[in-house]
Amino acid sequence: MAQLRNPAGELPVQVILAQPRGFCAGVIRAIEIVERALEKYGPPVYVRHEIVHNQYVVNQLKAKGARFVENLSDIPPGAITIFSAHGVAQRVVDEAAARNLPVLDATCPLVAKVHNQAKRYVAQGRKLILVGHAGHPEVEGTMGQIEGPVHLVQTESDASSLDIPADTPVAYVTQTTLSVDDTRAIIAALHLRFRDILGPETRDICYATQNRQTAVRELSRLVDVILVVGSSNSSNSNRLREIGSEMGIPSYLVADGGELRAEWVRDVRTVGITAGASAPDALIDQVIEALRQLRPVVVSSLHGREEKVSFRLPSELAMT
Ligand code: SF4
Repeated sequence: MAQLRNPAGELPVQVILAQPRGFCAGVIRAIEIVERALEKYGPPVYVRHEIVHNQYVVNQLKAKGARFVENLSDIPPGAITIFSAHGVAQRVVDEAAARNLPVLDATCPLVAKVHNQAKRYVAQGRKLILVGHAGHPEVEGTMGQIEGPVHLVQTESDASSLDIPADTPVAYVTQTTLSVDDTRAIIAALHLRFRDILGPETRDICYATQNRQTAVRELSRLVDVILVVGSSNSSNSNRLREIGSEMGIPSYLVADGGELRAEWVRDVRTVGITAGASAPDALIDQVIEALRQLRPVVVSSLHGREEKVSFRLPSELAMT
């Protein structure tokens, strides 16, 4: 079939979309909690931290009457309070209870599962190790759910140098936005370091993280450049970009179409596009449109894995 050239005589660039890409079940649930709370209780509702790490999503919810705060002290007495998808420390739960704030918990059920798993290990008398990134809100929430010390491990060398005797019973849990592939070497180092060590089954790793990473690896075998749609503070989006680069493909994180740079796509024949778990389809469309302003485009999607996961809403919102 003849390919259409634009007036400048350029051939179309082939755009291949990763599958799956974008929103996961935890993000869909968290956004729906805010939207339904706004419908049921009326604005404003208060959300502690960005509900998910995407500025476009946050701005849309702001426009509907959600207010985003970092501290519960910024929430007026009696106001509807929503915890973000990343989860919170127990002290935040306690503070909300002490202030009688009506709370809707948008913590992703997979994050809550990690919290519960961690508590079970500690109840068994094991020292707890958390594999994750320092400063990420999910890591702070998980560490803050546990009474007593939690040892944060970010690298293989952290794992090898933990200041815990080798015969101590230990257990580990992992940040959900790290995949099986991300954690494999660190967990191997932990197993070398400790004789009595437990960790969750592979199935406890977030399905969405793993699927998006597998898809971007597949994409990288087919394209000349990869664009990852996602915010700069989105851990899983950054990781997708890193994987593209590790696979040898120039890979760029773009928050929206406005961040696309012409030089990234000037001489390429194929562009791969994926999106982090908190990036909506509207932003992917924006990036394709921005590309269309530079070059003619033909869009196709990989077949990839179809996701059928969904999470129930809190009971107070389920019937509205
Ligand atoms: S990426 Fe995984 S853990 Fe995080 S919100 Fe989505 S489903 Fe939940």
